[in-house]
Amino acid sequence: MIQSDKRMLALLLPLLLLCSCKSTDSTSVQPSQTKRTVVDQFGLIHTKGNKIVDKNDNPVALHGMSLFWSQWGGNFYNESCVRWLRDDWNCTIVRAACGVESGGYLTNPQAELAKVTTVIDACIKVGIYVVVDWHDHNAHNHLEQAKGFFQTIAQKYGDKPNVMYEVFNEPMQVSWSTVVKPYSEAVIKVIRQYDPDNLIIVGSPTWSQDVDVAARDPIVDPNVAYSLHFYTGTHRQSLRNKAMAALNSGVALFVSEYGISEASGDGVIDYNETALWLSFIDQYTLSSCNWSIMDKNETSAALKPGATPTGNWRDEELSVSGTYIRSRIRAWNGEVFKNLNH
Ligand code: MG
Repeated sequence: MIQSDKRMLALLLPLLLLCSCKSTDSTSVQPSQTKRTVVDQFGLIHTKGNKIVDKNDNPVALHGMSLFWSQWGGNFYNESCVRWLRDDWNCTIVRAACGVESGGYLTNPQAELAKVTTVIDACIKVGIYVVVDWHDHNAHNHLEQAKGFFQTIAQKYGDKPNVMYEVFNEPMQVSWSTVVKPYSEAVIKVIRQYDPDNLIIVGSPTWSQDVDVAARDPIVDPNVAYSLHFYTGTHRQSLRNKAMAALNSGVALFVSEYGISEASGDGVIDYNETALWLSFIDQYTLSSCNWSIMDKNETSAALKPGATPTGNWRDEELSVSGTYIRSRIRAWNGEVFKNLNH
């Protein structure tokens, strides 16, 4: 302690003693701690049969936004953006998509990890959920890197109910039983050494559409759901049928990524099919993260090029998709936030 600090302490000490006389208990509740957050309300999210439920075993649907690949959309990986997504969009969940190939984690592990942890810290601070997504189409070829990444995340955040792990974004045309499943089991084994209970979301072949295949040969773990990814301009009733088959097999699904564009992320918006998919989400109480928070000139990007990376977006900075989805998420989660006092 330097001299000026000592003098300051001498001046403040009587005041500090006065303030502390009512309660000397270090656990006394400060005003900021009395605010209830989304995560305070729902606690540890887990599966119960084919449902996703909250800490009281009540079915819960979380709705929010996915960020874009971290190596290209990393400027949106900041606390101010996350806070805006909670306060203005009513997001109860944000997905951090850690880019792996194409200049991502494989090339710059520390830089990409730092972006992801910035988003996790922000979500914990504002009390919403965060999906930590290994955003890779070939994760089975990067098993050791994935294990290292998820070990770091689970060690640091495994005790936080906010965190969910998505271990393989979208496998392509590879086998579930001999490729995706063993990869996922190896990563899950590492996560479970540090975090015995948080939700783990597992991908399936054909860009996380073959949920029915995974459901016939499921992973043995107490808290695993399967990601269901769709783009409403491309995927239709046949994919909803596969999803229903998986649910009927008894596994839980989690829509950790969907867009209202075509599967390329671009193209036209089919509003009729979008309405069918959003009804499907509601019918089965599925959680969802829309793709994506990015200021790119393509249909699925929620923001127009040049939108500020720190939130506070004006209406004219939102794309057609962004405007539509923001309105939907605000409607979905309005009741949740009405009951919270932040
Ligand atoms: Mg845990």
